[in-house]
Formats: sequence, C-alpha cells, structure tokens
Amino acid sequence: MAIIISGKNYVSQHLDSLKTRCSKISASKTPFMKVVLVGANPASLSYVGHKKKLCEKVGARCEIVEVHPEVSQTDFLKIISEINSDDQVDGIIIQLPLPEQLRQLDIYNLVDPTKDIDGFHIKNLKDIYENKLTESSLIPCTPKGVMKLLDFHELDLKSKNIVIVGRSHIVGKPLFHLMLNKNATVTICHSHTKDLAGICKRADIVVVAVGNSRFYNSNYTHKDQIIIDVGISRDKDNILCGDVDFKELENSVQAISPVPGGVGPMTVFSLIENLLIATEKKYDEN
Ligand code: NAP
Repeated sequence: MAIIISGKNYVSQHLDSLKTRCSKISASKTPFMKVVLVGANPASLSYVGHKKKLCEKVGARCEIVEVHPEVSQTDFLKIISEINSDDQVDGIIIQLPLPEQLRQLDIYNLVDPTKDIDGFHIKNLKDIYENKLTESSLIPCTPKGVMKLLDFHELDLKSKNIVIVGRSHIVGKPLFHLMLNKNATVTICHSHTKDLAGICKRADIVVVAVGNSRFYNSNYTHKDQIIIDVGISRDKDNILCGDVDFKELENSVQAISPVPGGVGPMTVFSLIENLLIATEKKYDEN
C-alpha cells in the first residue's frame, strides 16, 4: 500500500495556526478578500465556495463579486480597477476560466501585485524565477500547496529527478522553478512531448497537471515513484477524479496523492495564507 499524501490531513493539522495568525492581524483589521466571478461555471462556483468557506473559518472576510458573463472588456477593467484602489480590500482573485471576450486581456497582471493573492502577477513570479523568496512572497497557490505537501512528508527534493506533466502559467511553470530552487533536476512535459511514459518511468517524483481524467497509470510508473495528482475533472459518469488512476496505482507505487483530498485543499489553504501575508505586509508597511 502506498503512502497517501493527504492535503486534507495537512489542512486539519495546520488550520489552528492560520486562525491564530488571522486573529493577531484582526486586532488591527480583519483580512478581507474579494473574489471576482464572471458567470456561473459550475466548477468555478464550487471552487469559489471552498475558498469563501475556509476564509471565513479562519476569521477573515470574503466577498464574491458576481459579474455578468457578457461583460465588456472596458467594464471588466473598470471593476478590477475599483477593487484595486479600494483600501479596505487586502486580497483579490479573478476566478478562472473567463469568458472568451476577456481572454485577450493581460489577465495575470490586472490585479495590484500587493493584493495578488493568487500570485500570478509577474512582479510576484519574479521572486520565484530569481530564487529570492521570502516569508512574505506571494507564491501561486497550487505550486505552493504542492511544495508544502512534499515538505510535510519530509521529502527532500535535492538531486531528485522530478517530472512535471503540464506547463501552465498557474501550475507547471511556477512549480518548475520552485523545485529547481530546491536543487531538484526538473523536466517539464506537455502535449508535444515525445515518449512521455519513458520520461516519467525514470522519475523519482511525478506531478501530473493535465486535466485528463485518470490517464496516468502503470505505464508511466515504477514501484518507488512518488505521484502528486493536481488534476481535477469529472469522468464520463460525472465522478470527481484526478489525472491519475488512483485505484490502479495505490498498491504499486511508493506514495500518491488522492483526488479529492490531495492538492485541492492545499491550494485553498495556500490562498488564505497568501491573504494573511498580503494583509500583514500592508499594515507592517503603514
Ligand atoms: P491547462 O492550462 O489546460 O494546461 C494543461 C497542460 O497539460 C498543458 O501544458 C498541456 O500541454 C498539457 N497536456 C495536455 N494534454 C497532454 C498530454 N496528452 N500529454 C502531456 N501533456 C499534456 O491546465 P491547468 O490550469 O494547469 O490545470 C491542469 C489540471 O489541474 C486541470 O484538471 C485543473 O482543473 C487542475 N487544477 C487543479 C488545481 C487544484 O487546486 N488541485 C489547481 C489548478 C488546476 P500544452 O501546453 O502543450 O497544451
């Protein structure tokens, strides 16, 4: 039986520390985040619900700003600009995906970098790329959550051969740099990669972030492999699952993260931690 790398366990063991941190800040000002939600994509509604729930559980405030799905670029930019300049707001996220008419916008750089609790702004990514992270850096939530989870399981990344499948701006690319900063040897794969199975089979750790339900199976693994499943999708029976065939692999690899209960809770935890960091920084500087 593989070791189960559980984000749910991590969150239950670390929630109190987040609450304590929030209550210290709240002595001056309750941390407040706004989530901009365009339209009513069912998956987005569910993710936003999880974020609001954890935010309120730790004692911070969350407001969901619902925007019409056909909003024009001009009106959308006006909404973001108003939230950016609202002194009461400490953290902002724009829930993805966005409708077609907004996709040409420089979406990752719209939010004020000091309130960018998703950590997508180039000014925040620069710290990762230059290996200049501090306790107060705003790191993209899913990569940050994956790193926390590996650290929690005392997995030293130094000299490990790691493969990341997926090169998105929000997962694969920042994670590549975070792992490189820990002196791992990191390979990033994508839809044009030749012999993905051969590359993965040689890896000590594989992170799968593709969005293709249960495609990662025993063709890609070996008995000592550690697998982190970032994917979240629904199979043909509408069952929530990851990119990894958990049932097939849970007895034949060293360690594996489940879906649900793996990386998902870590992403939300990291987001709320980023909100606290952004709020602390704001009031420390004033
Ligand atoms: P994305 O932007 O669609 O990127 C998917 C990546 O997978 C791309 O780099 C793509 O390659 C690559 N890919 C697609 N098919 C492939 C194949 N057959 N072989 C190898 N690589 C392939 O997705 P994302 O936003 O990173 O999200 C990926 C998954 O993670 C989704 O299921 C999403 O819902 C989930 N997710 C989960 C969390 C969480 O908190 N657990 C957070 C974020 C995302 P190209 O670049 O060549 O197109």
